[in-house]
Amino acid sequence: DGLADDPGTRRKYLAIVQDKTRALDAMVTDLIEFARMDTGEWKATHRPVRLAQFLRPIAQRYAEDAAVLHRSFRHAIELPDDLEVPMDEALTGRALENLIGNAIRYTGEGGSIELQATLEAGVPVISLRDTGIGIPAEDLPRIFDPFYRGTNSRREQGFGLGLATVKSIVESHGWTIGVSSEVGCGTTFRIAMGKGPS
Ligand code: ATP
Ligand code: MG
Repeated sequence: DGLADDPGTRRKYLAIVQDKTRALDAMVTDLIEFARMDTGEWKATHRPVRLAQFLRPIAQRYAEDAAVLHRSFRHAIELPDDLEVPMDEALTGRALENLIGNAIRYTGEGGSIELQATLEAGVPVISLRDTGIGIPAEDLPRIFDPFYRGTNSRREQGFGLGLATVKSIVESHGWTIGVSSEVGCGTTFRIAMGKGPS
């Protein structure tokens, strides 16, 4: 519409358009994946995966993302190198991405995020702690519901499907997920990769 007539401005606007298009694309993908999972129209392929080797590259990738966004991302993966967990690697990766994405999104600049993996009584436990805005106690029971979005997050883009997807994935493996949070201090999500409650 002749709004940007020099190449520099045009490039800037195109970059914004590209950025928004990517965000929209990611949202549509989330929505489709969630719908698929909800109708059982997906096939999980469970294979034994070496947990430490699976987690390290994910942590490294997010450390870079977080650094760009001025948040620190540390990881402490304290697992035997040969520890294998039966899982659908792609789905588990997606669950962790959703959790880490939230941690980055709901933690301000200068905040920190830590991914930890340890064995607790023989059960592998992955925990993700952030020093972000936290979740009010009254919201906690609803954060895993589809389309639920916290009052603090309405100005951010999203459907409120991230955690519902995480929960479906975790439960499809027979694992459990828990959360603890304090407003203004931060939030910790914890996935126990054993069968039944832990
Ligand atoms: P989407 O993931 O679909 O883009 P979303 O991030 O709002 O949108 P969920 O990931 O399902 O949705 O999270 C639900 C709500 O839980 C969020 O709107 C937010 O209020 C709260 N929440 C989730 N993770 C955190 C976190 N690490 N710190 C603070 N609040 C969080
Ligand atoms: Mg989310």
